[in-house]
Amino acid sequence: MSSPLLAGKIAVVTGAGQGIGREIAHVLGAHGATVVLADLDADAARAAAAELGGTGVGCDVTDEGQMERLVADTVSEHGRLDLFVNNAGITRDASLKKMTVADFDAVITVHLRGTWLGVREATAVMREQKSGSVVNISSLSGKSGNPGQTNYSAAKAGIVGLTKAAAKEVAHHNVRVNAIQPGLIRTPMTAAMPPAVFAEREAAVPMKRAGEPAEVAGAVVFLASDLSSYITGTVLEVGGGRYM
Ligand code: NAP
Repeated sequence: MSSPLLAGKIAVVTGAGQGIGREIAHVLGAHGATVVLADLDADAARAAAAELGGTGVGCDVTDEGQMERLVADTVSEHGRLDLFVNNAGITRDASLKKMTVADFDAVITVHLRGTWLGVREATAVMREQKSGSVVNISSLSGKSGNPGQTNYSAAKAGIVGLTKAAAKEVAHHNVRVNAIQPGLIRTPMTAAMPPAVFAEREAAVPMKRAGEPAEVAGAVVFLASDLSSYITGTVLEVGGGRYM
């Protein structure tokens, strides 16, 4: 029997306490990776790790010191870092008329500063190692622009620019940086949407259904593995054909 696709790989997933991040951690583990599950909610991260395997740790992605520690502790415990998934995210939806500067700053800080810190810290290790893959979770909202999400759409579009710039900086070190743009995925984040809005968005998906977290995780496994060894700076859409 061939060895699992991600055997021996050391992975970190942010925002892994629930939703898509938790499922990414689950599926990476199922493919043989050793996973560090990080979340703002340390108890949720530890509970997920207890169930799925791996290590659960508290980490606020907006905090430079905590992100430095997350990567340093992973390397000191496991000796290397092969995959870093910048998944943590929040929404603070409101129309332009109602959105506050605090709503804007919160979303930009978690998604953009958080992802940038993750990319910086992870690639610092990977470039010395001469191998590694970083996967940034953007959103189709960053491609199309969603009304009520000027903060979130801006942040998710920003992640695409960050991904491409970073990919160009580290490509010659055999380090790859890619982004995934999920469409409408069934998670606690989308469960918070008004049901009528969810139904309307679901009806607009060519495949006529919302996606499952495991369907995003499958794309992460591909970008993490050597199956995608010549792919960097790309944006992979996981949206059932939405906004194709
Ligand atoms: P979710 O269920 O709300 O999970 C997000 C996780 O991130 C939560 O565990 C949350 O912890 C954590 N988090 C929030 N702020 C953090 C911070 N500062 N530091 C560390 N962790 C933090 O959301 P999801 O639906 O799984 O979304 C995961 C990612 O996919 C996000 O980047 C989201 O924007 C993106 N995405 C989702 C969809 C979708 O349809 N669901 C579509 C496109 C893209 P707490 O619960 O403690 O706050």
